[in-house]
Amino acid sequence: MLDHYHRHAYDYSVRTQSMMTSEHRSSETPMIDERIEGLVRLCRGVRNVAVFTGAGISTESGIPDYRGPNGVWATQKPPTLGDFRTNEATRRSYWQFRKRSFPELISHRPNVGHLAITRLFDSGIVSAVVTQNIDGLHQEAGVPDRAVIELHGSARRVHCLDCGRVWDGREIQQRQDDGEELPICRNCGGPMRAQTVLFGESLPPEALRRAIEIARTCELMLVVGSSLVVQPAASVPLEAVRKGIPMAIINLSTTPLDDLATIRVPLPAGATLTTLAEALTDTQR
Ligand code: ZN
Repeated sequence: MLDHYHRHAYDYSVRTQSMMTSEHRSSETPMIDERIEGLVRLCRGVRNVAVFTGAGISTESGIPDYRGPNGVWATQKPPTLGDFRTNEATRRSYWQFRKRSFPELISHRPNVGHLAITRLFDSGIVSAVVTQNIDGLHQEAGVPDRAVIELHGSARRVHCLDCGRVWDGREIQQRQDDGEELPICRNCGGPMRAQTVLFGESLPPEALRRAIEIARTCELMLVVGSSLVVQPAASVPLEAVRKGIPMAIINLSTTPLDDLATIRVPLPAGATLTTLAEALTDTQR
């Protein structure tokens, strides 16, 4: 597991020159492709679709894919949890950085891919979204919290490491803007940080349990923008395959599960999902 806080940390320093390649912009040109037509055929009439998303759905919102060829981790070693809990200096520098970076973190907006998934959810076709992303963009796009399972947490929330209480990140940002240099839990005085999974930490058990349950009971597993290499998150779509449930993969690069997919669409997520949502909601409404 990578350190999601630091993922975002590097995001802000590299995003301007890194990831907005022509590949990621091609959603501006809607395409009709026989592979998308195959995907539409596979999904037609199907309900209870589980969507599993990774970084690839958010690149079109300007958030880099850290594992892509230009990604941060191609050149830098991911940081580890270290001494966050015991070392005040570490926490202090973390919160200083977060104060500067949070406004940009929440400035990213959902793109057409997120909106297409919302449309499929509102139409009763998609029943749940399991995501590896910590950007909160599925909820920003209108999928209700109850239907989004965030395997790696969310950078938009802050939690107490001692009592577990959770705050909206904007509230803590306000406290910092009001002069608090090192925010602590107002419930128990414990140390706080973003509610994201750090390198070496295990996934939130309840989120993983729900994700596996969804994978086992859906009618179709639709993977979007995940390279399916981060474990144990990538074991979620595999669980569907083990149950004999068809899996479709929309991802620009190959994945270790490609051979198990019923269909693979190596095209940008935004355009593909838009075409899919239009085809399915026009005929199923
Ligand atoms: Zn607390």
